Amino acid sequence: MSRQSNVLDSCPSEIATDLSLRLACRKARPEGTVVDVSGIPVGGAEVVVLAGPCAVESEEQLMATARAVKAAGAKVLRGGAYKPRTSPYSFHGLREEGLKLLAQARAETGLPVVTEVMDARHLDTVCRYTDMLQVGSRNMQNFTLLEEVGRVKRPVLLKRGMSATIEELLQAAEYVMKGGNHEIVLCERGIRTFETSTRNTLDLNAVPMLKRRSHLPVIVDPSHGTGHSWMVPPLARAAVAVGADGLLVEVHCKPHEALSDGEQSLTPDRFELMMHELKAVAVAVGRR
Ligand code: PEP
Ligand code: MN
Repeated sequence: MSRQSNVLDSCPSEIATDLSLRLACRKARPEGTVVDVSGIPVGGAEVVVLAGPCAVESEEQLMATARAVKAAGAKVLRGGAYKPRTSPYSFHGLREEGLKLLAQARAETGLPVVTEVMDARHLDTVCRYTDMLQVGSRNMQNFTLLEEVGRVKRPVLLKRGMSATIEELLQAAEYVMKGGNHEIVLCERGIRTFETSTRNTLDLNAVPMLKRRSHLPVIVDPSHGTGHSWMVPPLARAAVAVGADGLLVEVHCKPHEALSDGEQSLTPDRFELMMHELKAVAVAVGRR
């Protein structure tokens, strides 16, 4: 088989030596970084799927979803306990109660847990219960939060701001790394464009670009990237084909009853089917 093209092919020296990104640039670690999420390597040969509900809603909802995503092959459980919502009247999460349920789901399934930290004041509490900290799109340039997250020893899932450039995402990662925390996974989750038929426009250009400019692992969120559950499997396949190290996918047992993002959440059955379809794509691009 002929050698596969690589994101570092004909890499001009100005990309290789990226002075504005002292720590996050590819040159700082040409071989690439593998982030360890409580024993799950992100950025290695295996494409890792992080899945679960948008928000933790109840013990029953979370446990059923956690069992289902684990059975289908997910390696990390996601679930929001502190939810950033556009309307102040929407459901904002169960807060510490939600964190406790996530810890319970981890104890039962063995899946490490990722959840969003929205505010530096919640950081100690969130760290007590979770394996990985999510910095959400709306907080990607909350520099105070980035600096605080940089001080803790916990892997970070850094989501691209909905109107942020690739450069701004990389600089946000640099903020966290400057504080001493180098365990960062970057996440493309769609950007705002003039298109209105989808919630966001999933910018798959970002995957090879980020991997060329930085050594950090890159995952893709086709749920927020499209806003439509039926679009999640094809965009997930495309993300793996273009070189993503993993996927962040919203799953809900009863999407029509979900308290947030039901429209873009897969049922466990659809999730299982998608996982099966992804295997062939992963193998085709030399991944597991
Ligand atoms: C989420 O993952 O549920 C979320 C709120 O994501 P984002 O910050 O990308 O909107
Ligand atoms: Mn969501």
